[in-house]
Amino acid sequence: MPLIPLLPIFHRFNRKYFDGLLSQDLKPLVAVRWSDGRLRNTAGFYRRSKKGGQHYSEIVLSTPLLINLPYNAVESTLCHEMIHAWIDLVLGIQEGHGPIFKKKMNSINSLQQNFQITVRHQYPVPNRSPKWWAICPSCGLRLPYKRIVKGAACKKCCDANHHGKWNAGCVLCYEPFLKEA
Ligand SMILES: [Zn+2]
Ligand SMILES: [Zn+2]
Repeated sequence: MPLIPLLPIFHRFNRKYFDGLLSQDLKPLVAVRWSDGRLRNTAGFYRRSKKGGQHYSEIVLSTPLLINLPYNAVESTLCHEMIHAWIDLVLGIQEGHGPIFKKKMNSINSLQQNFQITVRHQYPVPNRSPKWWAICPSCGLRLPYKRIVKGAACKKCCDANHHGKWNAGCVLCYEPFLKEA
């Protein structure tokens, strides 16, 4: 999935769920953008900071975490961060995931069926690189593995040569991933 433009979604949500209060004269009160490739610890965040004496706020969505997820993951993450922006910029209240956040979240969730906002972003953080190559001694198949699974056998060979039954001859061997080119 290529990166989709966020502003049209922002404006749509702003009209539907925030009474248009997150923009002024069609200009968003908060900048909305995709992250670079490094934001891997969260699907998105909202922050306000001071830049040259001016308050500057932005919503950043994680490119690496969201790029392969369905559209509604982007909607849910963006809407989550818009609630933070709304509490901060419109209500002028300091709150994390408190009662105001949850009330707004539940209300938006009940208004539509396309996506569900959660308190914590629930998208899997992709692991950087696997630690092991699992290698089938019978057919030579190599699979990247995060951890050694003791006794795991090559399914293809068990199916093909052993009527689908586990066989010691197909038990995977492990080699450190990094030694491989
Ligand atoms: Zn949050
Ligand atoms: Zn095999």
